[in-house]
This record gives sequence, C-alpha cells and structure tokens, in this order.
Amino acid sequence: MKFIGAHVSASGGVEQAPVNANGIGANAFALFTKNQRQWVAKPIPEDSVNQFKENCKTYHLDAAYILPHDSYLINLGHPEEEGLEKSRAAFLDEMQRCEQLGLRLLNFHPGSHLNKISVEVCLDKVAESINLTLDKTAGVTAVIENTAGQGSNVGNEFWQLKYIIDRVKDQSRVGVCLDTCHTYSAGYDLVNEYDKVFDEFDSTVGFSYLKGIHLNDTKKALGSRVDRHDSIGKGLLGLDFFKRFMQDSRFDGIPIILETPDDTLWAEEIKLLRSFE
Ligand SMILES: [Zn+2]
Ligand SMILES: [Zn+2]
Repeated sequence: MKFIGAHVSASGGVEQAPVNANGIGANAFALFTKNQRQWVAKPIPEDSVNQFKENCKTYHLDAAYILPHDSYLINLGHPEEEGLEKSRAAFLDEMQRCEQLGLRLLNFHPGSHLNKISVEVCLDKVAESINLTLDKTAGVTAVIENTAGQGSNVGNEFWQLKYIIDRVKDQSRVGVCLDTCHTYSAGYDLVNEYDKVFDEFDSTVGFSYLKGIHLNDTKKALGSRVDRHDSIGKGLLGLDFFKRFMQDSRFDGIPIILETPDDTLWAEEIKLLRSFE
C-alpha cells in the first residue's frame, strides 16, 4: 500500500498540518515543526502537541507516514566551528520537537562544504552531527535526503549517502529519503534508466534504508544539478515515470511526499497518482 501526501502548511500551529493533509485526501504528510527560515523557535505548547496527536488520530494519519523536515538554515557538515555548533544545536532542537510530537522520522538535507573542505570531510562532519544528536534523543530516525548537488551541497551521489550511514553508530536510527527531482537533476536518469537507477541505489545504499520519498517532477535537465521542482507530469520526468513508480512495490509502506510547487493541485495530483496503482 502507498502512503501519499504533501508537505502541508503548519501555519496557525502544528496541529493544523494533519487537518490540511486530510483536506487533500492524503494518508501521509510532511511539515515544518517550526519556522524553517529561523534559527530559534518557541517550544511547542503542550495543548498544541495534544491537539496534533488528536488530529492525527481523527484522520488516521500514523506517525510512520509523517515525515517532518528540518530548517533550511541547518548545515550539519559546516566547515567552520561556529556554524557547525549552531547547526547541531538547532538540529537537536528539531529532533526533540519530533520526540515531543510522537514522530519517528526527521528529514534533512545533509549539508554543504561551502568550497572550504572536501566532500569527504564534509560528510564526516554530517555523520558526527548525526551521532551527537542520536546520543541525546530516542525513537526518532535521522533521514538523510539526497540533493540535486546544487552549489556546494553534498549528498547528490548515492555513495555519499552510504558514506554517512557507514559512519553512524546506531544504524537502526538512520535512513534516507529520495527526492525524485533531486535524483534526476543529480544525473540519475529516472526516465530512460529507471531499473538501472534503483538497482544502483539498492546496491550502493540498500532499500532497507529507504524511509521516505519526495515525489516531485523536475524543471531542470538531467545532470544540471539545479533544484527546481515541478508539478506531477508537467516536468521532465513525465507521467510514465510516475505510473511506473506507483506500481513499484518497493515504495510501499513509506511516506511519499509531494513538494510540488502548486499547492492547489495537490488533491488532484494525489488522485492522479492513485489512479496509477
Ligand atoms: Zn525534497
Ligand atoms: Zn528540492
């Protein structure tokens, strides 16, 4: 069974996210548990936490299919001590918010080397950041998202995801999220080499580590390393890719999240995807 939703708004409080997910016919969703463009946020009020849990129950949205996303400011592979410390503190706060909400996954972009350190040194720092955070938390899995490789972002090649996982001490609490737009922009040809790409993912990282999908079409060319999402079927991946994806049982049982640009289409996009099952 496929669990499909979108990265819905939590404006007005985290408890609004499950309501918004239900409104588009989703049985999975993503959210920010704080303003994604700010470093610090007030703790989530207790009544908001309770209402969030209540709403999830009402709409049958299980924590297994909720994939919160951390702040865009965080760089767990930051080349400089100050930026790294600030990022690690913010990431710990994000994890603790997930714990508070009873969530089990936290999705994040691995980091950026900012042209000051090598990719490997950056990845080492990301792994260390994960270790430090997992040591202080319980029950939440750190879900590394693959990137388009835009700018100095790491995590665009599958081996880099595995490199991080290999250095995480508690491998029961680390996983990956594949973003289909990022995968294509990073140079993996999901249109013409669907089997080859996922075989390579399986042999390099392993489907057992796959904890979520960001299902997006893409505006930018294969290997462009530019991250521009498009609505389902409107970009370069095209409907045939999404048909194939929906019939692929390897993507059953994990949250599949739309981060497509037009939120007025989400309900239709979910319906369309469901028609391909
Ligand atoms: Zn994504
Ligand atoms: Zn993206």
